Amino acid sequence: MEPNGILIYGEIKDNCSIAPVVTELLTKSRELKEKIWNQRIMVCVIGPRMNYEEIIKTLGEYGADEVIIINDDRLKQYDKKYYGEIFTQIALKYPPRIILAGATYQGREIMPYTAIKLNTGLTADCTNLDIAENSLLLSTRPTFGGKLTADILCKTFPQMATVHQNTFKAVKTENHINAIFDWIDIDKIENKSKIINIIKKNISSRDINTADIIVSGGSAACKDNGFTLIYELAQRLNAAVAGSRAAYENGYIIKSQQIGQTGKTVAPKLYIAVGISGAAQHIAGIKNSGTIIAINKDKNAPIFKSADIGIVGDLFDILPELIKELDKEEKDE
Ligand SMILES: Cc1cc2nc3c(=O)[nH]c(=O)nc-3n(C[C@H](O)[C@H](O)[C@H](O)COP(=O)(O)OP(=O)(O)OC[C@H]3O[C@@H](n4cnc5c(N)ncnc54)[C@H](O)[C@@H]3O)c2cc1C
Repeated sequence: MEPNGILIYGEIKDNCSIAPVVTELLTKSRELKEKIWNQRIMVCVIGPRMNYEEIIKTLGEYGADEVIIINDDRLKQYDKKYYGEIFTQIALKYPPRIILAGATYQGREIMPYTAIKLNTGLTADCTNLDIAENSLLLSTRPTFGGKLTADILCKTFPQMATVHQNTFKAVKTENHINAIFDWIDIDKIENKSKIINIIKKNISSRDINTADIIVSGGSAACKDNGFTLIYELAQRLNAAVAGSRAAYENGYIIKSQQIGQTGKTVAPKLYIAVGISGAAQHIAGIKNSGTIIAINKDKNAPIFKSADIGIVGDLFDILPELIKELDKEEKDE
């Protein structure tokens, strides 16, 4: 079969709904499809048996032409070997020109596996996608530590790319979608690893993907209980807690709370950066934020170039004052 169309990895959240990055990739794919003649947009959804009606409806609303569903109760728990192999087999059965996935944990595990199996290239963490004059996918991503952006043309098929959530906006359309319930022989997949137990880390913070307000800490908050102040402020503002890579490397946040090029791209209404210098790799993850407030004791810190409101001062003086004021306001109410 001739390679045709765009195949998107239809990541499912909590075994019940489609991950937001999928609808964002669908919206972008509609634009790409316009530029490559007679192409379809397919989504491959892998998971346990469940009611797929809502998922199919959502995918159609964002422009998918076809959804290929592989459902088996053994797929209730995400396992990279099963999911990677199934996705690869679907890509072989319905060969696309382009494969897209979210730069999520799953996307980051499955896509390199598929790229190796299909003997093709993969451009990870793209900040834009377009179609070049020769009808090839043009993937843009930061390079040289974020100082430059590179346009990458992969000349082997399928052309593969991953994109962070919130990089593109999801916009609805009207489309007729065709659902295919396909089957892959899971028993034939050799899986040398086995998930024995899943322990969820207890993080007392809201989800940074959906929070309206994010309070984010940098290396400056990684001492003298700086992150305790960040959590206290976040709690008063009903905000999520995030941080820079330095905060992650120092063990104050987990990977899913890291913002930036190698972390998450977020789009809150308000982003409060506390003791973060504003390296290009960090800014890459916050440029879709509504208002950015930066607190930094160095008036020349680069973060102030991206901030709407800048507060020059010591976080250990400013955060307690802010918390005190918010507590006072709550009492007065
Ligand atoms: C390929 C690559 C990918 C990367 N990906 C990411 C990424 O995804 N996300 C990311 O964040 N980084 C990423 N980085 C790292 C990035 O380059 C920076 O090193 C990192 O963002 C710095 O973190 P920071 O701002 O918390 O720390 P620092 O650079 O140490 O900045 C701390 C800031 O706090 C201020 N400060 C110090 N004390 C106080 C105080 N008491 N009160 C107020 N302000 C104070 C300082 O003036 C300084 O500006 C990446 C780097 C590379 C090369």
